[in-house]
Amino acid sequence: MSEPSFENKTLGLSENLLNYIKNLAGTENPVLTELREFTSNHPQKKMQISPEQGTILSFLIKCTGAVNALEIGVFTGYSSLLTALSLPADGKLTAVDRSEEFTGTATEYWKKAGVENKIDLLLGDANDVLDSLLETKKEFYDFIFIDADKKNYISYYEKSLNLLSAKGIIIIDNVLWRGLVAEESADDRITVQVREFNRYVSEDRRTEMCIIPVTDGMMLVRKK
Ligand code: CA
Repeated sequence: MSEPSFENKTLGLSENLLNYIKNLAGTENPVLTELREFTSNHPQKKMQISPEQGTILSFLIKCTGAVNALEIGVFTGYSSLLTALSLPADGKLTAVDRSEEFTGTATEYWKKAGVENKIDLLLGDANDVLDSLLETKKEFYDFIFIDADKKNYISYYEKSLNLLSAKGIIIIDNVLWRGLVAEESADDRITVQVREFNRYVSEDRRTEMCIIPVTDGMMLVRKK
């Protein structure tokens, strides 16, 4: 039988193919599963990363040997829990969010999974928190995940670059914004902000980036 022909380009994922990948990806930590199911009833459930994104983040944390991680935008805690579980025993995650309600849920699940000691929660406006981290510059971060309000993405990116260790990576979520970034007619506020951010980073000579078109698009950035 001849092999089916294919074009060498990224596939639009069918539900079948997505489930196939999910099934191959192995077992999710049971507390992560529980948290994902809890959040699936939340009105803002779209703010949670997908499990297939999670497997990539976890892989990146482990293969870069990250010890110190920073997360901007916690929501109910799926990615922070996954990060804490993926870091080594002496690893530390600094998690930044302004919502006491969301991070209350997150904290509950961090405890349930026994990783609360690996996570420092900093409550407040992310720009202010990042400024105070920059002031003290007590430590640099090997892995920074940005998944918060899109209007501040450029500011979070700039501040993160100054907090990034030499070999560290920054991951930015939602850079394809439901595919709207590529639709010329789409000119709503958030699409324009995400598009501006993407162009800003792609023109930044200090760094190198790539985009993984998983879920809503994740950008990976490293210093040159
Ligand atoms: Ca997101």
